[in-house]
Amino acid sequence: MSWLTEYVRPKIRTLLRREDVPDNLWVQCPACQQMMFHTEVEKHLKVCTHCGHHMRASADDRLRWTFDGGTFSRIELPKVPADPLRFRDSQRYADRLRGAREKTHHDDALLVAHGTIGGQRAVVAVMDFDFMGGSMGAAVGEGIVAAAKLAVLQDAPLIVFTASGGARMQEGAISLMQMPRTTIATRLVKEAGLPFIVVLTDPTTGGVTASFAMLGDIQIAEPGAMIGFAGARVIEQTVREKLPEGFQRAEYLHEHGIVDMVVKRTELAATLARLILLLRVKDLEAA
Ligand SMILES: [Zn+2]
Repeated sequence: MSWLTEYVRPKIRTLLRREDVPDNLWVQCPACQQMMFHTEVEKHLKVCTHCGHHMRASADDRLRWTFDGGTFSRIELPKVPADPLRFRDSQRYADRLRGAREKTHHDDALLVAHGTIGGQRAVVAVMDFDFMGGSMGAAVGEGIVAAAKLAVLQDAPLIVFTASGGARMQEGAISLMQMPRTTIATRLVKEAGLPFIVVLTDPTTGGVTASFAMLGDIQIAEPGAMIGFAGARVIEQTVREKLPEGFQRAEYLHEHGIVDMVVKRTELAATLARLILLLRVKDLEAA
């Protein structure tokens, strides 16, 4: 044993031991690699204070940030048959579901809540990317239908935050059926003369993009969000052409008219409040 192993190494170990420092005290920005205090990041709604990068946020965060004073009431969503196809890939679907529920403390990849935004009633549905990549199966489909019905019942606008890898392949054709179902759900809201606003967050792809995510009266996207149907590589291989820079990013889609506005997260709640007011001003005048 040398001085190095007996004295220096334990000393370094004590220095490195961070028992008194919680692991989540610091957050590193995935875009610019800057380290920031966790509390600082939370205060700025998980937007990097150095480069403005919008980090991924949980469904719970979204609800908290959107409603006035962070208060809202969540509704219970309809139960759907679990694992109807008894699907198994490298793991059983039933086990994957259980794992996702333990990790997120949610039943599936969608939360629905109601409350007020800028003093006006609103129903908000939020997809949870942490739950099996925000994939859309029967539960998400039912949830969107429930959210639409609630909006009609409450005579309130429907706002949907999307974050999804697409259809839930473990539910096969049942997951694909959610595309027409959710499309019809958005019709319910529109036929009632209520605003339907979509906030596209990073990433929104596949069957969700191909259904309700693109049907908003107003399409908002967060800065830098990846929004598309198929992945860029798949498209490049299919069309055999190099895709333009920034293809499938919120800003590119805004320039090309697919998205109406790119709104910073810190300005999102105020923007939603203003939009609801503008879209409903005629109703107020009529009342
Ligand atoms: Zn950054």
